[in-house]
Amino acid sequence: SFPPDVVPQAPEDPLFGLMRAYKADPSPNKVDLGIGAYRDDNGKPWVLSVVRKADEILRNDPEANHEYLPIAGLASLTGKAAELLLGPSAPAISEKRVASVQTISGTGAVHLGALFLAKFYKIDGVHRTVYLSNPTWANHHQIFTNVGLPIATYPYFDKETKGLDFEGMKRALADAPAGSIILLHACAHNPTGVDPSPEQWREIAALMKEKKHFPFFDTAYQGFASGDLDRDAGSIRLFVEQGVELVIAQSFAKNFGLYGERAGCFHFVAAPSSDAAEITSRVASQLAILQRSEISNPPIYGARIASIVLNDQALFAEWQENLRTMSGRIIAMRQALRSKLEELGTPGKWNHITDQIGMFSFTGLTEAQVLKLRSDFHIYMTKNGRISMAGLNTRNVEYVAKAIDKVVR
Ligand code: PLP
Repeated sequence: SFPPDVVPQAPEDPLFGLMRAYKADPSPNKVDLGIGAYRDDNGKPWVLSVVRKADEILRNDPEANHEYLPIAGLASLTGKAAELLLGPSAPAISEKRVASVQTISGTGAVHLGALFLAKFYKIDGVHRTVYLSNPTWANHHQIFTNVGLPIATYPYFDKETKGLDFEGMKRALADAPAGSIILLHACAHNPTGVDPSPEQWREIAALMKEKKHFPFFDTAYQGFASGDLDRDAGSIRLFVEQGVELVIAQSFAKNFGLYGERAGCFHFVAAPSSDAAEITSRVASQLAILQRSEISNPPIYGARIASIVLNDQALFAEWQENLRTMSGRIIAMRQALRSKLEELGTPGKWNHITDQIGMFSFTGLTEAQVLKLRSDFHIYMTKNGRISMAGLNTRNVEYVAKAIDKVVR
């Protein structure tokens, strides 16, 4: 049996707990700023128009069936997914330096990468520590710890400016032992919404190259942050162009609105060298073994939807339009929230709301203020003051601004 000292009761996942509390709240004024899922201006989940079309194509395909995918997943997806990240004419792709595996969305990609590094990435027989930004997506801590990799954090968020603690980050990267694994959010950092500028990315890349650190990119918001797929992949492309060996966990949950379908990919990119293609082939063979023992083969439906869109010019163009719709609405809500708070003369500065990018904003609200927003105004957000911008709409943004104003005073 499993006594409590061996299997203690674990706490509920805070985010899913928050979602449950929101659902149970009978107030007509309630606002969900917790979970990171896109909502339209009516507060409803949005099935992208391009996803509806791809679904229609799939349903009318007489060849479609429910057979297993290969272990590495749907090749028509993984190839295009790599192009989406690196650019269609990337030398890394033509030189066969990219190994791509379809995964259980972004989480599965981070996990597969963590597992691969735990098994194969050692220097002098010793694991390297994984450095996570402080703060980061909470699941990073669990995923890397679960595979037995040591973790540490590097400074990221500056509480004063509510922007990037660039000096602190650089100092930590310089101090970390050579060859450390550095987890980087490619764009739309979760939970802060704070991204390095292109110039800062260049400095980070140079510093990491000098220290021979191993970049582990997590990209869950490509196209969703700025509305431009290429721009949101800029950080990854910069590192790849510098000839750095790295891995990438890629999620299609947010940018395709395929949350529950669990579509994503993991990519290994070798540094350019005469044996890069051979290294890549060996890595791919080991990823396949890991994948087989973990999930056997990945799920098919979301992969097919994404693949149909990525392989059709007209649908791809429509997807880009859909991305601009989502990112544009979020940017508009950032502007609306900031200007309403400024109109109200709410104490403090609110420029960070529009300086930050992507799904989330780190408001700077304290835990006490967050709890008061929940109890007095039925507004739900995580205790660290993170709000999901997608939960705001033209009908509730004023209510939220007024509530924030009340709890801040
Ligand atoms: N990584 C980051 C930084 C995220 O914010 C998320 C989702 O919230 C994920 C990975 C993985 O999400 P999913 O497994 O739904 O693709």
